[in-house]
Amino acid sequence: MNVLLVEDDVGIGRFVSRGLMAQGHQVAWERSGERVRDLVATDRFGVMLLDLGLPDIDGIDLCRSVREDARIPILMLTARGTLQDRLDGFDAGADDYLPKPFAFDELIARLRVVERRQADAIAPPLRVAKLEVDAVRRRMRWDGREVEFTRRSFDLLACLAAARGDAVARRDLIEAVWGSENEVSDNNLDVQVSALRQRLRQLDLPLTVETVRALGFRLTVTEPK
Ligand code: CA
Repeated sequence: MNVLLVEDDVGIGRFVSRGLMAQGHQVAWERSGERVRDLVATDRFGVMLLDLGLPDIDGIDLCRSVREDARIPILMLTARGTLQDRLDGFDAGADDYLPKPFAFDELIARLRVVERRQADAIAPPLRVAKLEVDAVRRRMRWDGREVEFTRRSFDLLACLAAARGDAVARRDLIEAVWGSENEVSDNNLDVQVSALRQRLRQLDLPLTVETVRALGFRLTVTEPK
């Protein structure tokens, strides 16, 4: 899962991010609240772990403001552990609450619950032909078999698949892959499209990324001959 960790304590941040990465998760670690809303808006993250005591903003306020326009599951990590604190957290839109200090295994168990709940709540995986895109767990299958892509190729393919054969504008693809906060050239997108095409050939999948002139790209399913 792609985890957004918001934690100013270096010791805890390191402990959590290393532990999660060792378990195969991707972690983006922010030490303040400043960029959090923009990062969440990129839709790249499956869950946010949010410390309540941040240097620049109160975590409860940040949680509430993120919740206004995003459905990302939020797991609060905090030393404030009274019932009222927990209630405030849920009231602000948190999905779960883990009082510090916590055991790493407990964090993992809570994350699994969040992940499962999210998967059930949001999306049946998207299907295009035999391709199944599970954006929540960041997995793809073809005909039931797991197929692996780099992070960017995954995001690119998922975005194209979601359009179900319609053309997707370059700008939208760039935003889906790199997020809106990055300056990314058309050339970067072309390189990424080439990489995806190559990977699709490698995997021998009957999917083609077609160039749509003056607009962008579309995903088509190659009919068997
Ligand atoms: Ca803190």
